[in-house]
Parts: sequence; structure tokens; C-alpha cells
Amino acid sequence: MKKKCTKCQKRMKELKAKTPEGFSYNYFKCDSCGEEILDMNQLHNVAEKYREMKKFHAKLSKWGMSLGLRIPKELVDRYNLNNREEVIMIPEKKGIKIII
Ligand SMILES: [Zn+2]
Repeated sequence: MKKKCTKCQKRMKELKAKTPEGFSYNYFKCDSCGEEILDMNQLHNVAEKYREMKKFHAKLSKWGMSLGLRIPKELVDRYNLNNREEVIMIPEKKGIKIII
């Protein structure tokens, strides 16, 4: 896909970047003046990912000495999870990754 810079009319390159939450997205950058933009499509993609993330906020609840994490129904269905199933939690720099 070709895109022209709105400032200097040079051709822009499509690049990949990551949001602080770790979602990757595409954007256009002008090699000549450094202008960076997202077109409607790219913007829509990022917004969609944020919407998805918001949907999956979960509250922790006390469970003995530990905290329980409630997994929303939509994810239970999507990953076909069952009661008492074991998952793996991997501590990472930005958070905890759950492997199912
Ligand atoms: Zn430019």
C-alpha cells in the first residue's frame, strides 16, 4: 500500500510498532520529514484491540492466602476451558502470562 506524506508529499513507509500493552499495530512513517500517521484502517485495528482488552478486565478475589482470578465466560468458551483445569502462569516484566 502506498501513502504520501501530507507534509512533504514523499512516499511513506508502513512500519510496525507496539502499544505499551504489547499489541502490535501498523503505521506510516515519512523517511524524509519523520511525519507519522495512522490511516483509518490502522486506527480501527488499534481501537479494536483496546476494546478487546477492556472486555477482558478481571477482578481478583481472595481465596485462602492466595488470590483467585476470574476468567470471563467469553474466554472460557473461546479456549474451551474446564473447571479444575490447570494453567501455567509465567511471570514477565510487564505482567503475568497465562498459558492454557
Ligand atoms: Zn514527509
